[in-house]
Amino acid sequence: MRFIHETLPSRVVFRAGALDDLAPETARLGSRAFIVSTPGQKALGEHCAGLLGSSAIAVHDKAMMHTPADCVRAAVTRATQLDADCLVAIGGGSTIGLAKAIAFERRLPILAIPTTYSGSEVTPIWGYTDNGIKHVARDAHTQPRTVIYDPVLTLKLPPKVSGPSGVNAIAHCVEALYAEAANPLVSQMAEEGIRALGHSLPVVIENPSDLHARSEALYGAWLGGCVLAAVGMALHHKLCHVLGGAFNLPHAETHTVVLPHAAAYNASAAPEAMTRIARALGDRDAPRALFNLNESIGATLSLRDLGMPEDGIEHAVALATKSPFYNPAPVTADGVRRLLRNAWEGGAP
Ligand code: NAD
Repeated sequence: MRFIHETLPSRVVFRAGALDDLAPETARLGSRAFIVSTPGQKALGEHCAGLLGSSAIAVHDKAMMHTPADCVRAAVTRATQLDADCLVAIGGGSTIGLAKAIAFERRLPILAIPTTYSGSEVTPIWGYTDNGIKHVARDAHTQPRTVIYDPVLTLKLPPKVSGPSGVNAIAHCVEALYAEAANPLVSQMAEEGIRALGHSLPVVIENPSDLHARSEALYGAWLGGCVLAAVGMALHHKLCHVLGGAFNLPHAETHTVVLPHAAAYNASAAPEAMTRIARALGDRDAPRALFNLNESIGATLSLRDLGMPEDGIEHAVALATKSPFYNPAPVTADGVRRLLRNAWEGGAP
C-alpha cells in the first residue's frame, strides 16, 4: 500500500436548523459579509442578510450555471467596491462556484450553505466558462472555511433537481474509487457516499419533505465533495465539463446521463471500484446499478433529451481527447465516441 493523503481544514456544522447558527459562524470569518445566491434563491440570500443584520453588506443574486467569466468580473468588482471581508454562499454548486471565483481574486474566506448535493462546498475547485470552454481551477484559499449543512433548506429542492444533483455527488464517489491518487480512507468514504445517496435519493423523489432522507442525501453529498477534494477525477468528469462548456448542458443532469456509460467504459480496468459501487447499491453490476438508479429517480437518460445535437458528438470527442489525462482505461477517440453515442441515445450501458 502506498499513498499520500492530504485534507484542507474545514469546519462543518451539520444539523436540521443549523442555519440558526449563521451569525456566530460568520463572525468567526469577518464582519462585512457579501452574500451570494442565484436569482431563484434571492429570498434565501435575503433571509441570511436578515440573520446577519449589519454584518451583511449585500445580497448578490447573480450566480449562474457554469459561472461565465463576465459574471465573475461583475461580482468581483461589486465585492471590491463594497469592501467585503468574507463571503456567504447560499445555494448550489453554481453559487458556491461564483463565491470561490471571488474568493480567489480577493483572498476572502467563504462560509458555504449548500442547498443542493453538488459537494462543491468542501472542495478548493471551481469551474468557469469562457468562449464555450469550461475551465477548472484549484486553489486552497477557495475552499470554504465553514460549511453549514441544514437539511431543512433542501426540503423545497424540487425532485427533478434533487435526483440529478445527488447523482452528481455519486459521480464524485465513483471516480474517487478509481482515481490515480485513490487511497483506502477515500475509498471507504466514497463507498459510504454511494450507499447513502443510493438509499436516500429514491425516498427523496417519492417524498421530498422526508427530513430523514434529506439528511442522509446531504450526508452523502458531503462525502462526495470530500472525496472529490481529496483525489483527482477521470474520464467521466472530463466529459461532463466538455459537454457543459461546449453545449451549455445542465451540469448535474449531464453527470447523471453520462455516469453509467463512463462506469461501463472503466469497468474492466477498475474491477475493485466496480465491486464497491455494486455493493453500495445492493446489486451485482455497477454500471447497470447506476443506470437503474437513474431510472428509479425518473432522471433524463439521454444527452439527446438534454438538448445535445447529434453532430456535437464529434466535437466533444475532439475536445475530450485533445490533451492526455489520467483514466484507468486508455482514453481513445473510438472508445469515447462509442461512450458518447450510447449516452446520447440513452440506452442501458
Ligand atoms: P445549481 O447551483 O446551478 O442549482 C440548480 C438550480 O437549483 C438553480 O436554479 C438554483 O437556484 C436552484 N436551487 C438550488 N437550491 C435550491 C433549493 N434548495 N430549492 C429550490 N431550488 C434550488 O446546480 P448544482 O448542480 O448544485 O451546481 C452546478 C455547478 O456546480 C456547476 O457549475 C458545476 O461545475 C459546479 N460544481 C462544482 C463542484 C466543485 O467541487 N467545484 C462540484 C460539483 C458541481
